[in-house]
Amino acid sequence: MFDSLSAKFSTAFVSLRKKGRIKADDVAEIAAEIKLALLDSDVSLEVTENFIARISERTLEALPDINKGINPSQQIFDIVHEELVDILGGSARRIRYSKRPPTVILLTGLQGAGKTSLAGKLAKYLKDQGNTPLLVASDLQRPNAVTQLQVVGESISVPVFAPEPGNGVGDPIAVAKAGVKFAADKLHNIVIVDTAGRLGVDEELMMQAKSIRDAITPDEVLFVVDAMIGQDAVRTARAFLEGVGFDGIVLTKLDGDARGGAALSITKSTGRPIMFAATGEKVGDFDLFYPERMASRILGLGDVATLAEQAKKAFDNEAAAKLESKFASGEDFTLDDFLQQLEAMKKMGSMTKLLGMLPGVNSGAMKKQLENFDEGELVRTQAIVQSMTPVERNDPKVLNGSRRLRIAKGSGRAVSEVNNLVDRFTSAQKMMRQMRASGGRSLPPGMALPPGMALPPGMGGNSAAGPRPGQTPPKKKSKSGNPAKRAAESG
Ligand code: GDP
Repeated sequence: MFDSLSAKFSTAFVSLRKKGRIKADDVAEIAAEIKLALLDSDVSLEVTENFIARISERTLEALPDINKGINPSQQIFDIVHEELVDILGGSARRIRYSKRPPTVILLTGLQGAGKTSLAGKLAKYLKDQGNTPLLVASDLQRPNAVTQLQVVGESISVPVFAPEPGNGVGDPIAVAKAGVKFAADKLHNIVIVDTAGRLGVDEELMMQAKSIRDAITPDEVLFVVDAMIGQDAVRTARAFLEGVGFDGIVLTKLDGDARGGAALSITKSTGRPIMFAATGEKVGDFDLFYPERMASRILGLGDVATLAEQAKKAFDNEAAAKLESKFASGEDFTLDDFLQQLEAMKKMGSMTKLLGMLPGVNSGAMKKQLENFDEGELVRTQAIVQSMTPVERNDPKVLNGSRRLRIAKGSGRAVSEVNNLVDRFTSAQKMMRQMRASGGRSLPPGMALPPGMALPPGMGGNSAAGPRPGQTPPKKKSKSGNPAKRAAESG
C-alpha cells in the first residue's frame, strides 16, 4: 500500500538529511520532489498544490528557527508529517450513535466497491464492541448480493433481514424501511443497510439511493469506494455527494497496489472524513481509519500502534500471564507454549502485512526481503509441532532419529526441517535460561516469534517480533567494563 509514494518520500528526505544548514533553495527542491511524488501517486492537482504551498510556506517561515535547531531536516519532516495528517482528515472519526436506537447506517457506492463485504466487516466490528447489529439486504440488483450478505451474516452470527430474493426482484426502498422497523421491534441497536450500485454513476442509481435515504433517514450515510481506482474515486465521490450526500467515506482494497491518490485526495475534495479502511477480503480485514497512522506509514515510520493493538487482540491475556510466570519461576518454555504462540500469531493475520507495519520495513532492501517472506512457514512449523506427542513437546531431548522420522512423515515435511526446528527451539530455550540466570525478569523480545521460523536475514531473526505489548525489552548486559572492548564484542 502506497509503497512507491513511501519510497519517494524517503528518497527526498535522504538528500535533505545530508545537508547541514537548510536554505530556501533546498526547500524549493524538496517541495518539487514531493509534488512530483504526489502527482505520480495520482493525488489530485488541487490537493497537491495546496499541500505543497502549505509545507513551503510553513517551512520558509520557520527556516531561521529550524536552522538554529540540532536537526533541521527532522523539523521539516515533522511539518510534512503534520500536513499529511491534515490532508488525510486530521483525527479519526467514529460512528455517531443515535440517541434513539437503532442507529441507521446506509451504505452507498458503485458496484464492486466492496459494499456487501463491508457490511459484514462493519457488522462484525460493531458486534465485537458489544452492539447488536442487523444487516438489511436492499441490494436487490446485483446477482447473488442477497445470498452473499446472508452468507457473511451467518459467518459472523449477525442476523440478516432479507425478505426478497433479489437478482432484480423486490423493492429495495420497501425492504430498507421494513428492515429498520424490524430492527426497532427486535431491539437491535444498529441497522446496516446494503444498497445496489451500478458499474458507473447514473441517474437511476442516484434516484434509488436518494429514495432509500429519504425513506429511512439514516444517522450515517457511508460512501464505500475502491481505493485502487485512484482519482476516479474522487470523481465518483463528488457525484455521490451531490446526488445522495454522505457523512463519511470507507476506503476498500487498501491492500492492493493503490498508489494513494484516493486516500490523499478524497477528504479535501469532498469535505468528508475517511472513517474506515478495508484491507482484504476477510471479514476481519477492517479497521477505523487513523490519519495519523496512515501518514506515518506513508513516511516510512511504520504503524506500531496498529501492530500492538492487533497483538493485544490475538494474545490471550491469561495465557500470556501464565507464560510469564512460568518464565519467572524458572520453568522451561516448551513446544506446547510455542504452539500456543503460533496459534496467536495466526490469529494476527498475514505476517507480511504485520511486518510491513514496522518502521522502515517498506523501503529498499527490507521491502524485497519482506516480499520474499514465506507465509507458509507458520503453517508448516505448526504441522511439525502438532505431529509430536505431548511428551516430546514437553521435552524435545527425547526426540531421537526414529521419532524425528515419524514426525516428518506425520507432518508431511522433510526430516531436515524437523531437525532445524528442534535445533532452533533448543537454542531459544538455552538463550532463555541464560537470560534468566543473568537476572532478566521478562520474556525476551521475539518470544512471540516461532523459533523455527525463517525470518529474512537483516530483519532481526528470531527477535523481529519485538517485545510483546506492554513489555520493555530487557537490556543487554555488557560483557566488559571497557567501552572499547564492549564495542568490539558487539561487533
Ligand atoms: P459490492 O458490489 O459493492 O457489494 O462489492 P462486493 O462486496 O461484492 O466486493 C467486490 C469484490 O471485491 C469481492 O470479490 C470482494 O471480495 C472484494 N473486496 C471487497 N473489499 C476488499 C478489500 O478490502 N480488499 C480486497 N483485496 N478485496 C476486497
